[in-house]
Amino acid sequence: GYDLELVHLTKRYGETVAVRDLNHIFNAGSYVCLLGPSGCGKSSTLRMIAGHESVSDGSIVLDGLDVSHLPPAKRGTAMMFQNYALFPHLSVRDNVAFSLRMKGVDKPTRYGQANELLELVDMSDYADRLPDQLSGGQQQRVALARALITKPKVLLLDEPLSALDPFLRVRMRAELKRIQRELGITFIHVTHGQDEALALADVMVVMNNAVIEQAGSARDIFNAP
Ligand code: ADP
Ligand code: ADP
Repeated sequence: GYDLELVHLTKRYGETVAVRDLNHIFNAGSYVCLLGPSGCGKSSTLRMIAGHESVSDGSIVLDGLDVSHLPPAKRGTAMMFQNYALFPHLSVRDNVAFSLRMKGVDKPTRYGQANELLELVDMSDYADRLPDQLSGGQQQRVALARALITKPKVLLLDEPLSALDPFLRVRMRAELKRIQRELGITFIHVTHGQDEALALADVMVVMNNAVIEQAGSARDIFNAP
């Protein structure tokens, strides 16, 4: 597996310190939930790991390699957002295969991989549809397949379930857990919901005021004396 290590990781926006000197190792293959109040630095941390935001100080080390200054597509990470952002004019299959097309992978290979992932997320029957013909939950599954096609070592999820209705949210939760187990890769999932974190997390990391305040199992965090 691939451990992900944050070393003195810091993010400043002008005077604001959004993330202050984080030092943490995420063990390979774990389902991590990142919790904490709005504005505590969760998204900034995720975006720095993904490479969508620059690092002010410190570094991000994945599987022994310092990836802090690599472009997002070269880090071995992928990010899934709450607003899916599927391309409206592309079929579900082409959406999933998109990053492979950008890399110049031939059509049979990229469609083969896209079909496998559509099967994993239980969307094979919808491969030829357009995104606006899908429900929110279905679009989310497609977005997940699209992120996974890059074969990331670490998948970053920024409140992925917050746009879903409560019923779908609980169902997608189970699906995320199943898929993480099946692939054996690290998921780092930002959530506001304690019940969501309890249902999903092998490890909970709680941030407050730009620092990690607690990290451990659900038992450690919620039953601590
Ligand atoms: P969270 O995801 O926990 O809500 P964020 O990482 O989004 O926290 O924000 C942490 C802090 O950094 C907040 O004070 C926020 O206002 C500030 N911040 C986030 N992004 C920017 C930005 N692009 N420019 C300036 N300040 C930002
Ligand atoms: P979230 O609640 O998911 O953390 P926000 O609504 O805080 O998201 O941030 C949405 C976008 O606005 C992000 O791209 C973030 O970088 C930016 N942002 C957040 N806070 C600030 C801020 N204080 N100044 C400028 N940009 C900000």
